[in-house]
Amino acid sequence: MVGLGIAGMSAAIGLRRAGWTPVIVERAPERRTGGYFVGLFPEGRQAAVDLGIADHLHTRNPEGGADAKAWSVDRRGRRRPALGFLDQPGGPAAVLRGDIEAALWQSITGVEVWFGTAPVAITEGPAEVQVLFENAGTGARYSESFDLVVGADGMRSSVRRTVFGPDEDYLANWKAMICAFQLKEQVPTYEASDSARSSPGWTTTPWFATSWTPWKRPLTTCSTRCTRCGCRGGARGGSCWWGTRPGA
Ligand SMILES: Cc1cc2nc3c(=O)[nH]c(=O)nc-3n(C[C@H](O)[C@H](O)[C@H](O)COP(=O)(O)OP(=O)(O)OC[C@H]3O[C@@H](n4cnc5c(N)ncnc54)[C@H](O)[C@@H]3O)c2cc1C
Repeated sequence: MVGLGIAGMSAAIGLRRAGWTPVIVERAPERRTGGYFVGLFPEGRQAAVDLGIADHLHTRNPEGGADAKAWSVDRRGRRRPALGFLDQPGGPAAVLRGDIEAALWQSITGVEVWFGTAPVAITEGPAEVQVLFENAGTGARYSESFDLVVGADGMRSSVRRTVFGPDEDYLANWKAMICAFQLKEQVPTYEASDSARSSPGWTTTPWFATSWTPWKRPLTTCSTRCTRCGCRGGARGGSCWWGTRPGA
C-alpha cells in the first residue's frame, strides 16, 4: 500500500481481513494527522462500521443537537435562518479528517508501516511486482517484490504517474481554492452551537460549530434497520443516527 492516508489504511484493513499481509509505505517521516471538517454521510458511516473502526470514531456535531441554528448572513451582517450543512438529507455527521485518520490508525495494529519511504520504480512481472524504494532521509535505495501494489498516495499519486502516465491525464482543475482554519472561539453574537454561511459574490464563507471534545458516545451498530432510510450504520442510545428509533 503506498500512502498512509485514509485510502491506504482502509485498503490495508480490508486486505488483512481477506488474508493478505499488507505493508504500508509512507513518504512522510511520521503520521499525517489533522485536517479539517468532513461530513460523514450514511455511506461513510456504513463504511466505518464495515471496516470495524466505528468504535474509535466520534462525531463533532455541535452541542445542543436539534437546537443548533444555521444562518445565512448578507453583506451587512444581517442574518436569516437557513438550512445548515448538517441539515442535508442523510444527516451527515461532522467529523474532522484527523478523527478518521486516528480511528483508522488505531485499527491497523499489526500492519507493518515503513515511514520516510517512497517508491521510485515499479516493474510488473508475470508473478510479482518489483518495487524500487528510496529512503527519504538517507537516499538509500533498495528493492522488494510484492504480489500487489496499491497506489493510495493521494491526488498527485506517484504510483499512478509511474504506471499510467502524467497527472494532467487524470486531474481536472476546478479553478477553485479552499482555505480552512479553526477559530479560537465562536464568532461574536452567535450562540456556541450556531453555524452560518456568508456568500457575497464568488466566495462562500461558511463556519461550523463543532464540539471541542469528541462526542462521548462512540458509533455503535444498530441491530435493527432504520425505517427512515434503511440504514444500519449506527445507533446512539437506541436511537438511529437520524434521531429515529429503529422501527419507529
Ligand atoms: C494532512 C492531510 C489533511 C487533509 N485534510 C483534509 C480535510 O480536512 N478535509 C478533506 O475533505 N480532506 C482532507 N485531506 C484529503 C483527504 O484525506 C483525501 O482527499 C481523502 O481522504 C482521500 O485520501 P487518500 O488516502 O486517497 O489520500 P491522502 O489523504 O492525500 O493520503 C495520501 C498519503 O500518501 C502519502 N504519499 C504521497 N505520495 C507518496 C509517495 N510517493 N510515497 C509514499 N507515500 C506517499 C501522503 O504523504 C499521504 O499520507 C487531507 C489530506 C492530508 C494528507
